[in-house]
Amino acid sequence: MTGAVCPGSFDPVTVGHLDIITRAATQFDEVVVTVMINKSKRGLFTVDERIEMIAEATTQLKNVTIASWHGLLVDYAKQEGYTAIVKGLRSANDFDYELPMAQMNQKLTGVDTLFLTADPAYSFLSSSLVKEVATFGGDVKDMVPASVHARLLARIAERKAE
Ligand code: ADP
Repeated sequence: MTGAVCPGSFDPVTVGHLDIITRAATQFDEVVVTVMINKSKRGLFTVDERIEMIAEATTQLKNVTIASWHGLLVDYAKQEGYTAIVKGLRSANDFDYELPMAQMNQKLTGVDTLFLTADPAYSFLSSSLVKEVATFGGDVKDMVPASVHARLLARIAERKAE
């Protein structure tokens, strides 16, 4: 039985994330998408909302589950018996950022990080850019699942009214 953790902030999940999750699900028997909790950062969506949106977008992937974790990701991977972390690489910037973390995690626990190259159609895509563009009225419909798009517009309108 092979299992991998697919971590991120997923605030909110995009079609780029879903591409990586879907491809990871073909390589491993089990994939757990793990929403990493950062208490010092106010997200646009709560962790529970992020989990709900990922769940809605991955119902067809029967070997994918969703969890959240606060702390060292490798502690979670070890605790749950997962031997690999899967991450998407969009650019050399992602690589430079990810490499020391991957090496540190390997050193700490022996858990390896496997990188999947982003689909070039999505390599410009990040949750933060989607939020920024949507805030200024740009069309991000094709960049997130439909249910996320509706929630995104509603949340941005709520925040503007605050
Ligand atoms: P972001 O806020 O940058 O969208 P996250 O922290 O939620 O990203 O990212 C979680 C993981 O998903 C990271 O490994 C990241 O490189 C990957 N990822 C994010 N967006 C994409 C994309 N468009 N294509 C491939 N991988 C992606």
